[in-house]
Amino acid sequence: MNLQALESFCAQIGCECRRQEPMYRHTSFQIGGPAALFLLPEGEKMAAEIIAFAHREGIPLFVMGRGSNLLVRETGIAVPVLCIGPKMGRIERQGNLLLCEAGVPLSRLCQAALEAGLSGLEFAYGIPGSVGGAIYMNAGAYGGEISQVLAEARHITPEGEPGCFLSGQLDFSYRHSRYTGSGFCITGGSFVLKPAEKEEIRAKMEDFLSRRREKQPLEYPSAGSTFKRPQTGFASQMIDQCGLKGVSVGGAQVSEKHAGFVVNAGGAGCSDVLELMSLVRSRVAEQTGVLLEPEVVLVGPKGMEKLFEE
Ligand SMILES: Cc1cc2nc3c(=O)[nH]c(=O)nc-3n(C[C@H](O)[C@H](O)[C@H](O)COP(=O)(O)OP(=O)(O)OC[C@H]3O[C@@H](n4cnc5c(N)ncnc54)[C@H](O)[C@@H]3O)c2cc1C
Repeated sequence: MNLQALESFCAQIGCECRRQEPMYRHTSFQIGGPAALFLLPEGEKMAAEIIAFAHREGIPLFVMGRGSNLLVRETGIAVPVLCIGPKMGRIERQGNLLLCEAGVPLSRLCQAALEAGLSGLEFAYGIPGSVGGAIYMNAGAYGGEISQVLAEARHITPEGEPGCFLSGQLDFSYRHSRYTGSGFCITGGSFVLKPAEKEEIRAKMEDFLSRRREKQPLEYPSAGSTFKRPQTGFASQMIDQCGLKGVSVGGAQVSEKHAGFVVNAGGAGCSDVLELMSLVRSRVAEQTGVLLEPEVVLVGPKGMEKLFEE
């Protein structure tokens, strides 16, 4: 893998490129070793140029947003990381549509909708992460999901070709979209919203945010819900019923406040979290017969890894 060639190419096109960038600084879990190269493209065109170059040179890339659903190994990430985050943050209004770049924090998009008097995104207020990550994961809360408000998503194919999909083409389901595991890089989205009174929008947003603050252990670093909601019941209830609240491995702990969250209670490493997840999963399977599926995305030297072999 010719990382030097990619680094020189980034310098040529003016893309910020950091070597050995510690990933604990870019994940809400605050866990993870260094990324060999950490790239911060400014805009879709620059991202497309990098992806096309990497494709020609046979260099695999790992695309991330704001790192709020990632668990990165201590060994770090050997493939270059393309971060669609802080430098891709433009938002534009066109009537009842909000168009934005994929690096926009989801909560900032919700604020922009409020300022524009547009309703539909209230459910997403307080979900950390970027718009790109939210589209990829079909993020949702309190009965709402990205799939309900997204009109269109823009992307770059693994070969470096820009393109777009209409919402109906995105195969959305629970925490899944057509982009999941596809290697596409999401660069933007447009959201179709409805005019409403600002006070009504604000009240809903504040209600959702206060429910989060009340229920979730936001005082600790985490990646949100560790496991997906199973077909029946709730992961957090099952974990709680199995007596796992507060159980810890090293610095990783099943939150005392919300059993659905594994938190970094201080100095946790990726291996602590993995061991704890594995313990929780086998205990819940033994006692309830339900095999929990992880929601958190594990990233290792070659990029995304499967968390558990079935
Ligand atoms: C305290 C807390 C509360 C949370 N609450 C919720 C909640 O209520 N509902 C919910 O759904 N989630 C929740 N999450 C999880 C997380 O915020 C979401 O999954 C979020 O959408 C991830 O966005 P991100 O930008 O951080 O993505 P990342 O964590 O950076 O990446 C997640 C996945 O998306 C891919 N990805 C990210 N950006 C792109 C892109 N531009 N192009 C292609 N692929 C991309 C990555 O490769 C990775 O596979 C919570 C997390 C925390 C820490």
